Amino acid sequence: MDFNKIFQSQKELFNSHQTKDVAFRKETLKKLKKIIKDNENRLYEAIYKDFRKSAFDTFLNELSLVYNELDFFLTNLDRLAQPKRVKTTLSLQPGKSHIYYDPLGVMLVIGAWNYPYLLTLIPLISSIAAGNTCMVKPSELPENTMHVLSELINPNFPSNYIYVVEGGITETTELLKLRYDKIFFTGSPKVGKIVYEAAAKNLVPVVLELGGKSPAIVTRTANLEVAAKRLIWGKFLNGGQTCIAPDYLLVEESVKPELLQLMKEKLKEINYSDGAEHYTSIINKRNFDRILGLVDKSQIVYGGASNEKTLYIEPTILDNVSWEDAVMQEEIFGPVFPVLSFTDYDEILQKIIEGEKPLAAYLFTKNKEEKDKLLKLVSFGGGCINDTLMHITSDYLPFGGIGNSGIGNYHGEFGFLSFSHQKSVVEKTNWGEPNWKYPPYTNKKMKRLKKILFSLLLYGIPLPMILL
Ligand code: NAD
Repeated sequence: MDFNKIFQSQKELFNSHQTKDVAFRKETLKKLKKIIKDNENRLYEAIYKDFRKSAFDTFLNELSLVYNELDFFLTNLDRLAQPKRVKTTLSLQPGKSHIYYDPLGVMLVIGAWNYPYLLTLIPLISSIAAGNTCMVKPSELPENTMHVLSELINPNFPSNYIYVVEGGITETTELLKLRYDKIFFTGSPKVGKIVYEAAAKNLVPVVLELGGKSPAIVTRTANLEVAAKRLIWGKFLNGGQTCIAPDYLLVEESVKPELLQLMKEKLKEINYSDGAEHYTSIINKRNFDRILGLVDKSQIVYGGASNEKTLYIEPTILDNVSWEDAVMQEEIFGPVFPVLSFTDYDEILQKIIEGEKPLAAYLFTKNKEEKDKLLKLVSFGGGCINDTLMHITSDYLPFGGIGNSGIGNYHGEFGFLSFSHQKSVVEKTNWGEPNWKYPPYTNKKMKRLKKILFSLLLYGIPLPMILL
């Protein structure tokens, strides 16, 4: 496949300005929505074949969010794409100031496998909404979903506008040699570094949506019943293969027995047995072996069963885990939940702060001081108080990591901004210009200027405004 040819043709289309037209962008979004709607069953069948993910799960946690994003842009795009008038500082008077939202050009979107529709379609939707052309490379691991995405998109859109590339590392390495206007990558921090390095060679800006170990904390003030229910759901959804899943649990020692008991009850109620409709398998044998390799059998207090044939791992809780254990050294990305206890809240916050900045953090508490401390002291991508995962569902919250868990963000308006350039434009009148900035720079002029600046400062007008 000649990626360069597709890339050049996308560049040509972009430079023809066709994709920048807002009505054209909206028509594309409508068309994409119809294609997804008309083919929902094909999407469900493909993902079930790949890792036994049910239609309900796929709708709830992928397609409903995709529809939501499409609807957000269909409703808000006219407003978002309008140049925004902003205040004009004193030094620029008389004049007007605007931010123009410029499409960037040719985008490359690289997806991860765990939510294969969500993680390719939402960036694609933002890219279309912002007026770009786009090449999309879904993960090759769920191969049926990768095929269905290319089968639905490639025949329905011209390749010089939107094109889905099928392939793995070899193809991605080739793709990364081209000079896009932005790369949007979702995946591991390890591959994120490869992408960033390749992008740097061409000075291509990136959004990196990465992973890591996201903590969940439960203090003695929490509603334990609620905490148990929401932790179990967030951890074991998609077989634990969720980037923002609580990776490990930190629970205040005095409430640990009760919380563990409640979590076990919730797990039994839900029935996560092998073949259960609502429980997802592990993506492949390599990950199956890797996850089981992290488990110290002597620590299992719930679960532990697995089936190599169906790539099933039972939801498993490990107790009395220490920070030094293997399971605490890497992102688990599977249905294994290590539990560590604490007596000093400040100490565990400090422990989190000393590690890599997590993609998500969750705190179950009724205590305002505990909540404020977490939010003030700990840097993390996003999260919830008294819930798990749900922050990802809002169009009004930016979704992204920080430090090792990512660069940049998207969803709703934030996605639009990530795929646009904010072009600052000052429009001056042809009259009424002060003479200060033009030479000759005399002492007399300087004295007068300082006097004016000083009196303006007295009235609270910031210095840089007038110096600019
Ligand atoms: P991955 O990094 O292995 O793969 C992601 C993409 O990169 C795939 O499309 C793959 O084909 C490509 N790729 C893999 N190796 C490559 C290489 N050497 N050179 C070039 N391209 C390469 O990630 P994954 O296994 O698909 O997903 C799991 C990781 O992604 C976890 O760390 C998880 O936390 C993270 N993740 C993050 C988010 C988020 O929104 N922040 C969402 C989902 C997953």
